[in-house]
Amino acid sequence: MRGEFKTGMKAPPTHAPKVLLKKPKIHVVSFGCQMSFADSSEMAQSFLNKGFSSGESLDLADAVVISTCTVRQHAEDRAISFIGRLRSWKKQKPHRLLVVAGCAAERLGPKIKERFPHVDLVIGAKSIEGFSKIIEDILSEKYDLAAESAADFPQTPRLSQGSACDFVTIMRGCNYSCSYCIVPSVRGREKYRTVETIMEETKAKIASGVKEITLLGQTVNSYQSEYQDKTVKFPDLLRILDRIEGLKRLRFMSPHPHYVTKEMVSAFKDCPTVCHYLHLPLQSGSNRVLKMMRRNYTRELFMDKVRMLKSELPHLVLSTDAIVGFPTETEADFDETLSFIKEFQPAWIYSFKYSPRPGTLSSMELPDDVPSPVKEERLARLNDLAREIGRATLKGKVGQTVEVLEENENFGRTRDGFKVKWKGGDKSIGEVHSVKIVDASDFLLIGEK
Ligand code: SF4
Repeated sequence: MRGEFKTGMKAPPTHAPKVLLKKPKIHVVSFGCQMSFADSSEMAQSFLNKGFSSGESLDLADAVVISTCTVRQHAEDRAISFIGRLRSWKKQKPHRLLVVAGCAAERLGPKIKERFPHVDLVIGAKSIEGFSKIIEDILSEKYDLAAESAADFPQTPRLSQGSACDFVTIMRGCNYSCSYCIVPSVRGREKYRTVETIMEETKAKIASGVKEITLLGQTVNSYQSEYQDKTVKFPDLLRILDRIEGLKRLRFMSPHPHYVTKEMVSAFKDCPTVCHYLHLPLQSGSNRVLKMMRRNYTRELFMDKVRMLKSELPHLVLSTDAIVGFPTETEADFDETLSFIKEFQPAWIYSFKYSPRPGTLSSMELPDDVPSPVKEERLARLNDLAREIGRATLKGKVGQTVEVLEENENFGRTRDGFKVKWKGGDKSIGEVHSVKIVDASDFLLIGEK
């Protein structure tokens, strides 16, 4: 049967006797982006609904779900290495279930099972909506789940970075075709979850103690759906969610510059829960490179959006992504990125060296011709600039008293996205504190209560 195993399909039935599982445990591991994290949380829910509980320890787990990401090689390599290490975990108790899901699973498909026969199930990112049914089938085939277990476990998985904050995926896929990006081929075109589902999940998370929700989507602000006979666009969705009782903060990522509109800005102004922080991915300041990247905007159009945001929302904090060393990028192109960043002044920058991802247009059509030492040197210069801007922004906060939601002990974020660590006060995760900022490092505010 090797080689016939397809992404999103389960292994052929073995007709082995069923195993009785009492209080089974699932362990979920996510490698990569926040979408991958949110997907793993959603997949865990399918197990929890079947009576599993979330297990902290790999050794005690009866099932492991590995959620993979393929946007960067490093994340994919870490996931592959982890799958290899689970060979002995599976050998110890062969009834254990090992599921590999997500974007790398979509890209590599049957190759995962060929290389790692101890994997039971490979589910690509495009099949994630069908995950619940696939799991139901495989569980009923392999196991008898003791009935008593089902009632004992929470309906909402606690897999978030802290009990105060969690994610809600509102859309998957992307209708753009940026030449360096693997997302359209592994996730397909945009699909939107219904307003009802998003509201239900948000309310359930709030009921379980979550205070801050981050809406997720590859181009999150292109969201649209029909609700109560009307078309709900992203700004409308913000307004709907803002009214949910108990929600303290609403964030989203990652928006596409095209959908940064006056309507979205109005929703920022009108909705008290919407945090005044926006991650706006630039990628390059050179129009020539932007065109080769197929970003669908010019530096002028992008700057128009930045100016509009800064004039309408003076307290809005912006961050961005930038790629250095894209094929054919010259020193002059890179200088345009630096000059753009100086004018843009994002509070922080997620910067990356270009590396071709198999299956992307740029990897097939463009030479990876910027030498590695040049990429390194440009990255270092960009990071120096990012540090300089970040340091000045953070130093400007010293002396202010800010509102921080405690996510971990004495650690949290302000409404506009700055990370704060402070001394004093009792541990009270999920509470909002007033913290006086007394110092700042390059990326962190230091406070006192
Ligand atoms: S907008 Fe571009 S970079 Fe973002 S997910 Fe879509 S194709 Fe990828």
